[in-house]
Amino acid sequence: MKIKNSKFHKSFYEASKIDNKTVPEIALVGRSNVGKSTLLNYLTNSKLAKVSSVPGKTRLINYFSINDNDFYLVDLPGYGYAKRSKDEQDKWGKELEIYFKENKRLKHVFLLVDSRIKPMQSDIDMAIYLNYYNISYTILMTKCDKLSRSELSRQKMEIAKTFKLGVENIILVSANAKFGLDDICSRIEQFI
Ligand code: GDP
Repeated sequence: MKIKNSKFHKSFYEASKIDNKTVPEIALVGRSNVGKSTLLNYLTNSKLAKVSSVPGKTRLINYFSINDNDFYLVDLPGYGYAKRSKDEQDKWGKELEIYFKENKRLKHVFLLVDSRIKPMQSDIDMAIYLNYYNISYTILMTKCDKLSRSELSRQKMEIAKTFKLGVENIILVSANAKFGLDDICSRIEQFI
C-alpha cells in the first residue's frame, strides 16, 4: 500500500457527531507535542495537518481521506497537556471513550511516543485503554533522528518491556529525516 493522495475530510468537536458509517479508519493518538501533525504531513506528503509550536492546541478530531476514501486517517486530539483545565481534560476523556467504544470502523491505532523520553504514565494508560477496548495498536517512536543507533535500540527495548509488546509492534520514525513511512504503510495494509 502506498499513500497516493490525501484530502482533508472533516473535523468533529464531538465524537458523537461522527457520521462515517462505512470507510475504515486508522487513528493516530499521542501526547501533545509528540510530533503527530508533522508525522501526518510526512505520511501524506502534504501540509494537511497544522504543525504548532504551542502544545495542546488541537482539540478536534480531524478526518483525512486517503486514496480516494480507501480509508480515513483520524487525528485524535493530543493528551497530557498540563496547562489544559480539568474540564477540558474530562471532555477529552469522554470524547475519546465515545470514539473508541464499539467503533467497528476503527481498524488500527498508531500510538505515538517520543523516542527521547521514557514512556510516560499517560502513554501507558492509553495502551491499557486500547487493550481494554480490544483495539490493536502499533507504537510509533517519533523524532528518531534525535538519537544514536544504540540509544534507539535501547529505547525500543525499554518500550517493548514497558508496553509488553513484541518489537514488531514498534516502528521507528522520523518525519524530519523521512524514515518509517514504508513500515507504517505495510502495517496499515495489514489492517485495511
Ligand atoms: P503534535 O502536537 O503532536 O502535533 O506535534 P507537532 O507535529 O506540532 O511537533 C511538535 C514539535 O516536534 C515541533 O517543534 C516539530 O518540529 C518537532 N518534530 C516533529 N517531528 C519531528 C521529527 O521527526 N524530528 C524532530 N527532530 N523534531 C520533530
